[in-house]
Amino acid sequence: MKKVSLTCICCPLGCPLEVTLEEGKDPVVRGHTCPKGHQYGKMEVTAPTRTLTTTLPVPGGDPAMVPVKTAAPIPKGSVLPAMEALKGVTLTPPIALGQVVAENIAGTGVNLIATRDIPVKE
Ligand code: SF4
Repeated sequence: MKKVSLTCICCPLGCPLEVTLEEGKDPVVRGHTCPKGHQYGKMEVTAPTRTLTTTLPVPGGDPAMVPVKTAAPIPKGSVLPAMEALKGVTLTPPIALGQVVAENIAGTGVNLIATRDIPVKE
């Protein structure tokens, strides 16, 4: 049996979690105060994921940067490869909220989307 201590990152409360792992059994989560924390605790010890958020340059846009995020969480181990894949990427305005700016980021099957409108600078 193994016990793992975690802090839930699903909301600002940051509840302390303890997950007990026993071979052949589902992980047992304690310390959560809502179902989201229970799910996070189980996932974090079996298949951790993260929503990648960053910004990309938009030369000629107003402003000249756009915040982006993955449309769904991706495996934690794919975050750095995804950031590597975005090195040197620039976008062309206008950009619309929700627009796909990179498909299948790092082979995860998840798209990267813009989280605001970026009009052309006048
Ligand atoms: S367990 Fe629920 S209330 Fe606690 S930090 Fe996680 S999401 Fe927030």
